[in-house]
Amino acid sequence: MVTERDYYEILEIERSAGDAEIKRSFRRLAQKWHPDVNTEAGSEVRFKEINEAYQVLSDPKRRQIYDVVGKSGLGDMGGSGSPFGEGFGGFGDLFDAFFAGMGGSATGARRSRRQSGSDLRYDLRITFDEAVRGIDKEIDFDLLDRCLTCGGSGATPGSAPVTCTACGGRGEIRSVRQTMLGQMVNVTPCNRCNGEGRMIDVPCQACRGDGRVQRHKKIRVTVPAGIDEGHQIRLSGEGEAGPRGGTPGNLYVAVHVTPHAQLRRDGTELYYEMQMSIAQAALGTRTRIPTIEGEEEIEVRPGTQPGTEIRLRGRGVPHLRRPGSRGDLHVMVRVNVPTKLSKRQRQLLEDLAAESGEVVLTGGIFDRMKDAIG
Ligand code: ZN
Repeated sequence: MVTERDYYEILEIERSAGDAEIKRSFRRLAQKWHPDVNTEAGSEVRFKEINEAYQVLSDPKRRQIYDVVGKSGLGDMGGSGSPFGEGFGGFGDLFDAFFAGMGGSATGARRSRRQSGSDLRYDLRITFDEAVRGIDKEIDFDLLDRCLTCGGSGATPGSAPVTCTACGGRGEIRSVRQTMLGQMVNVTPCNRCNGEGRMIDVPCQACRGDGRVQRHKKIRVTVPAGIDEGHQIRLSGEGEAGPRGGTPGNLYVAVHVTPHAQLRRDGTELYYEMQMSIAQAALGTRTRIPTIEGEEEIEVRPGTQPGTEIRLRGRGVPHLRRPGSRGDLHVMVRVNVPTKLSKRQRQLLEDLAAESGEVVLTGGIFDRMKDAIG
């Protein structure tokens, strides 16, 4: 069966785990699940999973990509990407949902029906510069977080949840009926324990047995260089806590980027409209342009045509998925034809036309109007 488990979950580490911890956990799990040692069914799959997770999380660049966009961002670099992209569990969830209805295995061991916490969304606004350079941001918000009094179990400290007597801890009630087509097994969630298989005798007073309390939380979000408007950063397990020890949801940080005043951004490419006069285009000029690194002087060759594109390679926005490489800065030349001329400017342009033998309308607009009337 295809499952899309979180790499951190696979390696049994926190998202903040350091390199040494990742390595330690990998060694321990790889030893435990190595198919030569472990004869349990599925150990080979587990072992592969552990390897795949380690390949990604032990590589800082790939780990960063995974943190931001999930497995889909790794392309063929990392395991089988989910065709649904981030936010969806892919086929794994679909199969799980399908098989869950079929009532588990004959031994009666089944996954508990404990509810997971909700995913949360946080809208984070950053500047153009922050998006291009990357930044660590501290964000804070209110959420239902694990109750510290009971450790999230919902049972008062010193007590523990007890196995539901109605379903024997399976969380479901089975009834067998004889029909014309043979034996039919009907499986329904246990009413007594809400399908959780466990019940709380003495609820924790701090959370009234829910295992969660409202709390204000602060976390640091690493916004990688090259992030763009509309991107989401996924922090798995940082969402709402699940009731009574259920798996926590994910936190999705939706990034909004304030545009640059002069540079237009399209993915990794930057565009700047450079205005110049006819004389500057014809004679060439030196002018200052905005770049990510600040203002910079560039030289424009004599005889530059309107619409010319001057491309500054590697001066665009960093690639999110190819760290170290950047897009280009495209300077688009706009030549302004003057609409208001001083007397002297007009004379000079008329002289220029005469020198080239060009036909132009001479005299000011008032002169020509007088001609038309008179
Ligand atoms: Zn509690």
